[in-house]
Formats: sequence, C-alpha cells, structure tokens
Amino acid sequence: MASTEYTERTYIMVKPDGVERGLVGEIIKRFENKGYQLVAIELFKAEKTILEEHYKDLSGRSFFPRLIAYMQSGPVVGMVWQGKEVVKTGRLLLGATNPLESAPGTIRGDFCVDVGQNLCHGSDSVQNAESEIKLWFPRGVTQWKRERLDSLLYE
Ligand code: ADP
Repeated sequence: MASTEYTERTYIMVKPDGVERGLVGEIIKRFENKGYQLVAIELFKAEKTILEEHYKDLSGRSFFPRLIAYMQSGPVVGMVWQGKEVVKTGRLLLGATNPLESAPGTIRGDFCVDVGQNLCHGSDSVQNAESEIKLWFPRGVTQWKRERLDSLLYE
C-alpha cells in the first residue's frame, strides 16, 4: 500500500504586520505551492497569556515586552500545515529570524527588514509544534486526506 500517512505538522502564524500588509495570501501560497496541506486556519487577536506561554523561552530577553506588544498590535492568522518534514521546511520557507540575514526567495528575505516585524512565526521543532498546535487550536484540527494529490505525491 502506498504510504500517504505524513502527519508531521507545524504551527505557522502570520503576525500583525503580515496581516496588515496583506501578505496572508502570499504566505499561504508558498506553503501550498510547496505541496503542504492546510489543516487549520483562524484570524484572531492573540491573548496576552497565550502569547506569554508561546514565547516563554524568551521571557528573560530585553525585547520580550516589545514582542508581546507587537503580537497584540492587530489580528494574527494562525494556521496548521501538514506534510513531509513540514517543521524544518516551513522554517526554510520563512527564512532566518533576522530578515537582513534571510535569503532572497524566503518570505522574510523577500518582504521585510526588521527583526521586530518579521511577518510570520514557524515552529522550530516537532515537539514545539505539537505544543503550539495544542495551545493555539485547543479544539483540534481538521482530519482530511487529499485523496488524489497524496497518492501522486507520496507513492
Ligand atoms: P523565530 O521566530 O525565528 O523562531 P525566535 O524564537 O528567536 O525566532 O524569536 C521569536 C521572535 O522574537 C522573532 O520572530 C522576533 O519577532 C522576535 N525577536 C527575536 N529577536 C529579537 C530582537 N533582537 N529584537 C526584537 N525582536 C526580536
């Protein structure tokens, strides 16, 4: 039987600057073009307590209060994408944290210059992706198979 069970998932979030600049479609397009599958999406204003949990590893950094304020400055678009090695490849599609070091062709490399406004978040490990998905989509994500496409992609 063909293996169609690539269930690795990552949490991608278009940050308030990305939403305000109308880049949601562009970011979705890049994940779709690559061959990844969207399994959850929502536009919402991020709650402070959830942001603090999401970024808890950075709570000691000087920019932490600015980061939380930035993430609350407008709506975000939270998404869950699924597919083969989507965590690692999702980070490649985003580019380096500092947009000045992001390669052209990446989202940050093509669309921004400021680390404090770097358009999008992507989970940095499979384990963190699982925690972030539970944190931002506590009701779970949609289970669906792309019957036609997956049989072509993964056979
Ligand atoms: P990434 O988002 O690429 O995983 P980090 O987890 O290191 O990067 O940082 C989380 C977010 O914190 C970054 O995406 C960026 O928005 C913000 N950030 C990181 N470093 C700085 C900094 N030096 N100044 C301002 N904001 C920063």
